[in-house]
Amino acid sequence: MFYLTEQFFSIQGEGKYAGTPSYFLRTGGCNLSCPGFGAAYEVDGEVRYGCDTYFAVDSRFSKTWIKVEHPDVLIAELEDAFKKIGYLPDMVITGGEPLMYHNDDAFYAVVSWLVEQGIRITFETNGTIEIDFDTYPAYGACVFALSLKLANSGEPREKRIKPQALKNIQANTKESFLKFTIDKALVETTAFEEIDEIRKLLPELDIYCMPVGESRDTIWHNDKAVFHFCMQHNFHYSDRLHIRVFDTTQGV
Ligand code: SF4
Repeated sequence: MFYLTEQFFSIQGEGKYAGTPSYFLRTGGCNLSCPGFGAAYEVDGEVRYGCDTYFAVDSRFSKTWIKVEHPDVLIAELEDAFKKIGYLPDMVITGGEPLMYHNDDAFYAVVSWLVEQGIRITFETNGTIEIDFDTYPAYGACVFALSLKLANSGEPREKRIKPQALKNIQANTKESFLKFTIDKALVETTAFEEIDEIRKLLPELDIYCMPVGESRDTIWHNDKAVFHFCMQHNFHYSDRLHIRVFDTTQGV
């Protein structure tokens, strides 16, 4: 059994496949909470701080999440959605942290079915979960967009950087890449040092950096600094197209 918070058809807004029409599944729950990202929200009358997908992270929202117990039901919904779209789009499985469910029977059945259809799946993951690729071979056909958290997440290093989990992904997948969300302050302080340390651990993976900013009003505070940072260090710049186009609208 796993939790879904939403599913929708859109265009991938970030990373290696930015601009590609993609069907999104967003799972509920995360093994981190990233209080340093400072997105304030209110739940049951209490103000809390987390990331911009707090509604898919904080279990206090779980009453709004959908329980997926039978993979066939979700697979039928996906078949129906793909028929309406008219082709098999890329699939992005995001969260929260979707790989919390990697060994769940229902979750793995859905992933295996998608792989059998020849659909490219990208997991948007924080890279902290160790995957057993021998027991779950379908993950070897997937792309892992490793959105590793840096010190600005407010999480301790030993919780956000799991060397063995990362090395397994590098060794068992072909198109995976690293993705960092950074702001001007981090660019001017520890961003390169932190990213370089991770690059030494995962030398085969391409690096994408994108600006912090959960709205059109805030993203421009950081985009130029990240743009120049990428030029300076030979990293790929990734924009966040969905924010440029849709601003703060959810489910796009
Ligand atoms: S790991 Fe990602 S989804 Fe989880 S709390 Fe941190 S930013 Fe949010």
